[in-house]
Amino acid sequence: MLKFLLPLLAVFLVSCAPAAKDAPRAERSFFAMDTYISMTACGDGADAALAEVQERIHAAERRLSVTLPDSEIHRLNAAGDADVSPETADLLRFALSMSDETDGAFHPALYPVLTAWGFTTPTQRVPSDEEIAALLPLTDLSRISVTGNHVTLTPGTELDFGAIAKGAAGEDAIQFLKSRGIPSALVNLGGNVQTLGARPDGSPWRVGLASPWGAEYLGLLESKDEAIVTSGSYQRFFEADGKKYHHILDPASGRPAESGLVSATVVTQNGARTDALSTALFVMGAEKAAGFWRRKRNFDFLLITTGKEILITAPLAKRFRLADEFQNLKVTVVK
Ligand code: ADP
Ligand code: MG
Repeated sequence: MLKFLLPLLAVFLVSCAPAAKDAPRAERSFFAMDTYISMTACGDGADAALAEVQERIHAAERRLSVTLPDSEIHRLNAAGDADVSPETADLLRFALSMSDETDGAFHPALYPVLTAWGFTTPTQRVPSDEEIAALLPLTDLSRISVTGNHVTLTPGTELDFGAIAKGAAGEDAIQFLKSRGIPSALVNLGGNVQTLGARPDGSPWRVGLASPWGAEYLGLLESKDEAIVTSGSYQRFFEADGKKYHHILDPASGRPAESGLVSATVVTQNGARTDALSTALFVMGAEKAAGFWRRKRNFDFLLITTGKEILITAPLAKRFRLADEFQNLKVTVVK
């Protein structure tokens, strides 16, 4: 039985704030993309805009889901060759570039291996070494080609946007709200949080990062205009022979990544990129992730190790505060 914990990030929603208490405020929550989604927006037309965002999220799921039989990804995986929408083709190009950038840690074609473990199916199991070894060659990215809106997969290869779809949908939501003139909003797709602007009184949104230890939240992050995404081993997993197996695979081994991390939170200005990076950093582990950050410095992270240590990049540390009950954790600021 697959365990599945919600919500993944606590978000502190406050009203449309004292200074702008006359601004219309809308809220909406629903289930889609296999997770609980909640949104709040402040400003003229907020209610109608959120209704449209909900439709856009359902539409994104209908395009990108790997399990819905009519989705573009499902049809492409089954046929091996298909025309897809421009949005899906662009997301595939972006996913391939993220894989390249992260040296394969983010890998959008692990589906044959993922299903061998039974993730996304009703029953989970531990595949044999031989079974994994036989499937890994199918995940080679050279087996994918995308020209315009046409995608071809070498037989046996299957795409999976599970680690990027919610981030892409969150990004689309924010861009859409912006286009409707909404100045202030927060969208939470089961742990993929995006903030638009600040709260209407000008103070930052406050986002509670998930605690892997069951407490309400690990700490609070002040946030404006960005995406905050957490990937964790405690979110979706199954147990067999007393061992836990989680859903983030190390593309090199085809097994749940054992990188010494319990979770990886990433912050950047783009939702899809943040989602891809949170998965990638979880696979990399603390040391590689810190080296990667030092080379790039165009994102921030907060990592929690299995030894209960926190590593946080210096810019993020300035606006993050641990909850009182976690003040005794060891925190290393990465510079
Ligand atoms: P969640 O979907 O729980 O928020 P992630 O964004 O980390 O977490 O995505 C995990 C999902 O992505 C898995 O369920 C699987 O579908 C897929 N996946 C697993 N390992 C990888 C990987 N190394 N790179 C890309 N996608 C992955
Ligand atoms: Mg992800």
